Amino acid sequence: MLVKMEDRLDPDAVIEEFEELSRDAGRVQKETLKKILEENGETEYLSKWGLNGKTDPDSFKSCVPLVTHEDFEPYIQRIAHGENSAILTGKPITTISLSSGTSQGKPKFVPFNDELMENTLQIYKTSFSFRNKEYPIGNGKALQFIYGSRQFKTKGGLAAGTATTNVFSDEKFKTTMRAMQTSCSSPDEVIFSTNCEESLYCHLLCGLIYWDQVQVVSSTFAHGIVHAFRTFEEKWKDLVNDITRGELCSQIKTPSLRTAMSKMLKPDPGLANMISNKCLGLSNWYGVIQELFPNTKYIYGIMTGSMEPYLKKLSHYAGDLPLLSADYGASEGWIGANVNPKLPPEFATFAVLPNIGYFEFIPLKEDSNVERQPIGLTEVNVGEEYEIIVTNFAGLYRYRLGDVVKVKGFHNSTPELQFICRRNLLLTINIDKNTEKDLQLAVEAAASLLEGEKVEVVDFTSGIDSSTEPAHYVIYWEISGEASNELLKECCNCLDRSFVDAGYAGSRKSSTIGALELRILKKGTFHKILDHFVELGAAVSQFKTPRCVGTKNHTVLQILRNNVVKNYFSSAF
Ligand code: AMP
Repeated sequence: MLVKMEDRLDPDAVIEEFEELSRDAGRVQKETLKKILEENGETEYLSKWGLNGKTDPDSFKSCVPLVTHEDFEPYIQRIAHGENSAILTGKPITTISLSSGTSQGKPKFVPFNDELMENTLQIYKTSFSFRNKEYPIGNGKALQFIYGSRQFKTKGGLAAGTATTNVFSDEKFKTTMRAMQTSCSSPDEVIFSTNCEESLYCHLLCGLIYWDQVQVVSSTFAHGIVHAFRTFEEKWKDLVNDITRGELCSQIKTPSLRTAMSKMLKPDPGLANMISNKCLGLSNWYGVIQELFPNTKYIYGIMTGSMEPYLKKLSHYAGDLPLLSADYGASEGWIGANVNPKLPPEFATFAVLPNIGYFEFIPLKEDSNVERQPIGLTEVNVGEEYEIIVTNFAGLYRYRLGDVVKVKGFHNSTPELQFICRRNLLLTINIDKNTEKDLQLAVEAAASLLEGEKVEVVDFTSGIDSSTEPAHYVIYWEISGEASNELLKECCNCLDRSFVDAGYAGSRKSSTIGALELRILKKGTFHKILDHFVELGAAVSQFKTPRCVGTKNHTVLQILRNNVVKNYFSSAF
């Protein structure tokens, strides 16, 4: 559908609005807090802390404590069970979001409301406007690997689904995508099918049907695009066959998908032939996205944090197409937009939108074990790391999101944040401290040893094995091909040496931590883990491989244990 000029987004107006907000971020923050507290000051939660109508930052900080999701859980449960008094918000909450929960093992409930929806659209429009200045697009479509998860009713009758599902199913999302000339190439039946594998197949098929209209290839998290094209490698002949015959292959069983696709498919041997020739002409699938969708201007999705390990594969599939990293937020609420789209994904930053919430930052200094007092948005310093605290319009007050960010600079007076990692330590046995980032760097170093044999680490996770004395780190790898025992042993030693944290190296030397173990998994193990989370209600769109599997995460641990094919112990120390 062509978008009429008057319905198009006006990027200049959006940018001007953002410039104005960011020029006076300190004042906007105070006003935002005032508005949140005026709307919600009478709620049970805020009344409890004795604000007595005060709406200034100092009173707020001195009265209301810093909390985690655990502290909010009883309140959210009551809302989910249908209590309709003003518990967390003045206006009733009618929808609950499930966070992906891949870091904690089970999805968490968080409130979702119209304001969060508006924030989402504001973030999308802001980053799109900056992006469109550098990489303008015309009328066309986006091949979006997006998936709605199962939506259900809570005990109290509230609608519940993942945050992305709540967003995708809102009519305003579609209007905004149309205004940004990036309507999804797939129909709703494909986005919202509960069978994710079949849905992915149909997304690919829709993209191929509209091959010359696709201008953007995207997913919420970069993992989604890599996963899609790994699947394409396996299924491309079936897809070509469907296009030749104008009929969906019999493996796709879901009736709604079959009906929706039958409306789009008609026999097109010419197109099928072209796709087939393109695929056969590629070397190891390098540049497949650019080849199949030649009018694509860029690849788009969250590429930072736990998505960095997928960047190499994504660049491989992308060929010369630029990779543009998407914005920063969580089911709990949005934080910042990528207003510097030209920065490579590794350096992507997020400018905080000062009107979508009230933000505080706990300084994290390595030399101090005492937790420091949080400071305001405009008081942060360039080069320093902070834990981010969120207060928003959906009933979260001084909420510890659990993320560590670094201030890279300022856009006018609002900070530009780089995502560093989740705050909770991933791997620790005694005095050792290793974060998600440390694990990622160790895996990168060890995986580079496999390059010579053209083998890749498809995905990885880790854990602590305390059944041995002393306990030791376990790294799980799924790899793309065969590697010799000698080489994998070398990788195992490299992993052990690459955790450079002094506590770890010291403990290894004094044998208070045992030799690191590398366990190689059967092909498809991480797919099983994804399926497990989807069964729990997570959406493929929001899936992030858990980088550490704790002992309480029985099912995932069981999947890992059942799929180990080989293991190696390090002799690096
Ligand atoms: P979810 O639980 O699915 O709502 O995921 C939210 C979490 O995803 C955040 O707290 C971050 O840890 C991570 N996340 C979201 N956006 C980004 C980003 N742009 N870069 C890195 N990590 C992100």
